[in-house]
Amino acid sequence: MNAEIIAVGTELTTGAKLDTNSQWLSLKLAEIGIPVIFHTTVADDMNAMLDVLTAARRRSDVVIVSGGLGPTYDDLTREAFAKLAGVELELHQPSLDFIRSFFASRKREMPERNAVQAHFPSGSRPIANPRGTAPGIWMELIRENAPTPCLFIAVPGVPSEMKRMYDHEILPRLPHGELVIRRRLINMFGVGESHAEELLGDITRRQRDPEVGITAHEGTISLRIVSQGSSATECDAKIEKTEQEIRRLMGHYIFGVENEELEDIVLPRLVERGQTLSTVEIGTGGLLAHRLTSLNSVFTKGPPSPVRGGTILIDTKLPGKSISAVQTVWNHHHDDALAIDDLTKKLAEACRADFETDFALAVAPFPQHDPDRDPLATPITYVALASNAQVQLQEIVLLGDPAIHKSRVAKTALNILRLVLR
Ligand code: AMP
Ligand code: MG
Repeated sequence: MNAEIIAVGTELTTGAKLDTNSQWLSLKLAEIGIPVIFHTTVADDMNAMLDVLTAARRRSDVVIVSGGLGPTYDDLTREAFAKLAGVELELHQPSLDFIRSFFASRKREMPERNAVQAHFPSGSRPIANPRGTAPGIWMELIRENAPTPCLFIAVPGVPSEMKRMYDHEILPRLPHGELVIRRRLINMFGVGESHAEELLGDITRRQRDPEVGITAHEGTISLRIVSQGSSATECDAKIEKTEQEIRRLMGHYIFGVENEELEDIVLPRLVERGQTLSTVEIGTGGLLAHRLTSLNSVFTKGPPSPVRGGTILIDTKLPGKSISAVQTVWNHHHDDALAIDDLTKKLAEACRADFETDFALAVAPFPQHDPDRDPLATPITYVALASNAQVQLQEIVLLGDPAIHKSRVAKTALNILRLVLR
């Protein structure tokens, strides 16, 4: 059994928007052992859509089409399904009632045009969509060249509606493939990609079972364990064994799993220990503070954030009389040009005093540097962590893509703190 994903929308083929639905759906189908062999993106154009759907019917067992279910004239998926099947669109009264009440609950009258969303190709079934007005479509079509019907499923383009519909309405009804595929992501920081590969030995070799892939993103190295087997239990057992092996080899470089970021580890640790943190940053322009405040927990009810505040400094001296220790250090630097490592340490200490926190992280300025002009230069910046015991300083060489310097340096600062809190 194999599957094909078709993303419908002129906004996708023109490049105005990125098709993220196909990626998400493919990962989900792999989990139940259905390999995806085609991704097609097609404009809101009836002939082009019929071309693609006809090809899909010939070559795939399951075809999931996302997009084109809206109420407007450029939304053609319903009609294309009907044309492909050679049938008419029929009104499904319960769907129309639902769409009407959906509008009513929002104190709005249903525009007449939305009635088209309650029409389905004869012989197909609607798929409920409690989050929006577009139900999906479940349609099975006989094929000349295969004994089993081809299953066509249409889902809304809006990613949140699409995902809910897949998880709640489609997944429970889908046939499963013979192979189950499970994944686990292990995240590391503070180790380079090639050094990580060296430490891992032959764990990342191809054809290993389970397979382990390595990727790097802005300084974070992630290991993806992918296991195939006949049951989820079998896969999970294999993953568990490999994860233990990786943990033994990589030790403290590992900070989290799945989509966990460094701040997701550091903030709860601070809360547990009843300790507080403040930041002062120049080179990262606020990114460090952003990471430390972008967690949901900052906005929802829960323990108060352990972060007391932060300061962002830009190139210039601050006007007026010094009102804070950070300002005093910063203006002193402008008068006497402190060495940058020394400045970073002093800023960390001053920040800790200003905010009266247990820890303070400081990020130095980034040196001006154009890698295209001067490829052999080694631009250097610093991060410092002040605690009641000492000030730790780390030098960072800003190599590689300048677009990721800020992110990598902010993470390096968080990582120093993570290691202290272990
Ligand atoms: P539609 O169902 O075609 O009316 O699409 C509704 C919304 O979902 C539009 O804002 C689209 O940009 C978005 N959308 C449609 N298809 C995709 C896709 N494949 N990936 C991500 N977003 C999409
Ligand atoms: Mg569309």
